[in-house]
Amino acid sequence: MHNRDVLISEVGPRDGLQSIKRTMPTEAKLAWIAALARSGLAEIEVGSFVSPKLLPQMADAAEVVQGALAIGGFCVAALAPNLKGAERAIAAGAQKISIPVSASRLHSLSNINMSPEQAVEQVAAIVALRDGLAEPCPEVEAGISTAFGCTMEGQIDEAWVLRLAEMLAEAGADSINLADTTGMGNPAQVRRLFKGLRLAVGRKAGGAHFHNTRGQGLANAVAALDAGVTTFDSSLGGLGGCPYAPGATGNIVTEDLVFLLEGMGLRTGVDLDRLVLAREALLDGLPGETLYGHLHAVGYPKGFVLPAGEPR
Ligand code: ZN
Repeated sequence: MHNRDVLISEVGPRDGLQSIKRTMPTEAKLAWIAALARSGLAEIEVGSFVSPKLLPQMADAAEVVQGALAIGGFCVAALAPNLKGAERAIAAGAQKISIPVSASRLHSLSNINMSPEQAVEQVAAIVALRDGLAEPCPEVEAGISTAFGCTMEGQIDEAWVLRLAEMLAEAGADSINLADTTGMGNPAQVRRLFKGLRLAVGRKAGGAHFHNTRGQGLANAVAALDAGVTTFDSSLGGLGGCPYAPGATGNIVTEDLVFLLEGMGLRTGVDLDRLVLAREALLDGLPGETLYGHLHAVGYPKGFVLPAGEPR
């Protein structure tokens, strides 16, 4: 196993795919996931156990989880919005379950038809389900979405975000991460909220999930690093966007994030060359799809040395 300073959780096969209209065939998803795994990524969120009626892109989530487990070598994570989804994720063999809990009441009601408090109850029910298993396997992570702002409510009260984090910790979540779902966060806010998160929930303080909607994603990642965050969600090629916001990009770009971190002397355990190559597998499954990022286009700067010591 690699020695790592930072854990990158690749969320393209879930967050990226669910944010675009097209559906990637199951075989192509698995070929892409295998290419991602070859780069050394230690965690990949491979799908979402939402109702296939709401997200036909994710109808094959169980099959993808099983295929990902067969590829092996990384933690197979999946999103579940509620107890029913978690039951399906566990049955499929997911090793980690992420449950989104929106800090914005309006977003929560329109997205999952539950208040934030009801969503916390779902987390408690999922933890109870997990704890009752013969082998209490999947790690349960709660992600506070719209933690840095909401397209419907605008600003979100920071004290409320931290209170919600405490409620999720009390409900038994193993870790609580903060998500800038709408790309509204700025570095000062990110630093404040992640420091607050650590004070509120201690060792259960989890990772950062940033979208690059307004180009502030990597600046926010550096601010989160300053606040002690060591786990980051990102997607290859920044796949994604929002069907309702033309011009909105997806998550922060994994290749650029790894380049940034490694350049700062932080080890990610990810082979950048292989990671960039995985873009081809992604485009094989979604020909012509818009991808983002800089590193793949311009390459390494002269004399760039990775922390592992291999000069480029
Ligand atoms: Zn997201």
